[in-house]
Amino acid sequence: MEIVNSIEDMTELGRLWKSDPNTTVACVPTMGALHKGHGRLISQAQELGNLVVVTNFVNPLQFDREDDLKSYPRTPEEDKAVCRKMNVQYYFEPPAEEMFPHGFLTTVNVAHLGTRIEGESRPGHFRGVCSIVLKLFNIIQPDIALFGYKDAQQLVVIQHMVRDLNLPVQVVGVPTEREKSGLALSSRNVLLTDEQKKQALCLSRALKRVHFLVKKQNITHSGELLQAMRSAISSAGDEVEFDYARIVSRVSLEDLSYVERGNTLLLVAARVGGVRLIDSSRL
Ligand code: AMP
Repeated sequence: MEIVNSIEDMTELGRLWKSDPNTTVACVPTMGALHKGHGRLISQAQELGNLVVVTNFVNPLQFDREDDLKSYPRTPEEDKAVCRKMNVQYYFEPPAEEMFPHGFLTTVNVAHLGTRIEGESRPGHFRGVCSIVLKLFNIIQPDIALFGYKDAQQLVVIQHMVRDLNLPVQVVGVPTEREKSGLALSSRNVLLTDEQKKQALCLSRALKRVHFLVKKQNITHSGELLQAMRSAISSAGDEVEFDYARIVSRVSLEDLSYVERGNTLLLVAARVGGVRLIDSSRL
């Protein structure tokens, strides 16, 4: 595996690959602290492309709280070992001062898609995400880029940015990897105690509950389903602080009054022991 630490070197490689019609570059952007969810993205990238680049950059622009950025888990050596073991060919770990040099001013906003829901709880989050993703696309020039369904709004926002700005990259969504318990894998899970992890199960339980109510009891009215999600999360224990539960269109992220099978996203967020967790499901 080749480790690339400078934008200049990565840009050069990107140009080289672009000029070779036999090279299909699949890129997996991450913030490191890799787990099996990232592994699933990498495996999928290897199926779709013949050259895989994993990027590792904890993007300060997408954090709205200094303490959250500070406490974000960082395991750079383990991450490289994981990628080596998975036969990733290129690993891009740019320094922050190169990504955001003095005088950096330009950012990307996907209007209301980026300011609603998660964007309301974390102002500026998707502006940070889109800006870094666009920079990575410009530097690497991948043919394909993979993102997880877990961060469902992120996937929608990035797909919209790619469409609006005519970016020559195919965005592929990858299903969420979970623990046996149902808990969605997340880099932040290492910050949880065993008890907090147990209480964090309320998020996936809330999603499962809606699937049950829709599929087994034919309930499609969002009001009733949202109430079920809210109570599953709020009653989970003293470590859980409910943030939101939403039932929205997969395309527009507009709230749906009724579940539309094949076009519905369930989104939940909570703080568990002060750690912010999100989960989502398609229906
Ligand atoms: P992160 O390092 O948390 O920014 O995540 C990098 C990519 O991995 C994003 O596209 C996430 O949506 C995706 N991802 C994170 N957790 C999971 C998971 N449990 N299953 C699948 N993909 C995930």
